Amino acid sequence: MTQTKQTRGACAFCGRKMTGNGMVKHLSACPKRKDTLSENDQKTGKKQKIYHLKVQDAWLNDFWLHLEICGSAILKDLDSYLRSIWLECCGHLSQFSVGGWKGEEIAMDTNVQSIFRPGLILTHIYDFGESSETQIKVVSEREGTPMTEHPIYLMARNELPEVATCTCGKSGAWLCLDCAEQDDEVALLCDKHAKDEHQDHALMPILNSPRTGRCGYSGPAEPPY
Ligand SMILES: [Zn+2]
Ligand SMILES: [Zn+2]
Ligand SMILES: [Zn+2]
Ligand SMILES: [Zn+2]
Repeated sequence: MTQTKQTRGACAFCGRKMTGNGMVKHLSACPKRKDTLSENDQKTGKKQKIYHLKVQDAWLNDFWLHLEICGSAILKDLDSYLRSIWLECCGHLSQFSVGGWKGEEIAMDTNVQSIFRPGLILTHIYDFGESSETQIKVVSEREGTPMTEHPIYLMARNELPEVATCTCGKSGAWLCLDCAEQDDEVALLCDKHAKDEHQDHALMPILNSPRTGRCGYSGPAEPPY
């Protein structure tokens, strides 16, 4: 799935679409977000530190998330979230570390506010065999009332990259693993060709997850809440 065009995603507050990097700036300036946050802060509820995270697959730049996480959350909450939206195939081990993936491991029960500060970069590894590596950058922090009762709030997510097309010209929705082993060019298939010509092959749906094509990943690639 080589890409030249950067994927875009919509701001959860105002709906504007932009790239993952553009979204860093946008979220700090979005007037709708400012209004929503200040309204939200009027609500009763304990104020706490809340962190803006930019999450990105370490190798596939097309896949990114902008999240808010409460200071009272623990890293396990983030691990669970990443598993739901992107990673979970069959319950592999995972870990967080600082200083790259050979860096110092940080325990899953670590309290977010005890280590998070703007500029911190964490590495998350899921599955030490066919591993998925995710980079988490703390963009900024604010003091306020959390947006929801959940520890994490999704502010933006990339839309599915416009994947290369099937040889017939229609956009590909399936990856043929058997054919991909032999030749990259014929691996992407439209619905019709997947069903007509590759029905006996190992077909994998293309999902909005950087784990597509790994370890039989089959989605659903949806946020848990
Ligand atoms: Zn916005
Ligand atoms: Zn697996
Ligand atoms: Zn095939
Ligand atoms: Zn086709």
